[in-house]
Amino acid sequence: MTDFRIGHGYDVHALDDGLRLVLGGVEIPHAKGCVAHSDGDVAIHALCDALLGAAALGDIGLHFPDSSDEFRGIDSRILLRRVAALLRKKGYAIGNVDCTIRMQRPKLRPYIDRMREALAADLGIDADRVSVKATTTEQLGFEGREEGVSVSAVALIFRP
Ligand SMILES: [Zn+2]
Repeated sequence: MTDFRIGHGYDVHALDDGLRLVLGGVEIPHAKGCVAHSDGDVAIHALCDALLGAAALGDIGLHFPDSSDEFRGIDSRILLRRVAALLRKKGYAIGNVDCTIRMQRPKLRPYIDRMREALAADLGIDADRVSVKATTTEQLGFEGREEGVSVSAVALIFRP
């Protein structure tokens, strides 16, 4: 019997003027970026938590504490690659991942396929197993007021 596991991840970062905006491993030109200890890639953080959650291996804060200088300003793609390597070490393969980015502006559609390709490369799986979706919140809540970005993610992993 294949040992299937699913996991869920959720992350929020505040937005502030003049910071880099990096989502799903892709830098996006915008007036605001995420406030963070790392590069603030909120999509990758949610995805890491979904993958770690599926394997019941804790969360991103446990593995990469934001009190550590090692992770200051770190490219979150490095964290995602480390999570994927940890799962492989535990005998898991990644079935698929799916995430939803909630952000009022800018329009993310032009960047979605590049995000999928970057994430797939880091996870070592085909891009057709990686889904990235973006939605506004119709001006409602902190995302709608452009005070922050939230991302939820799910992942399915399995041990053959
Ligand atoms: Zn984060």
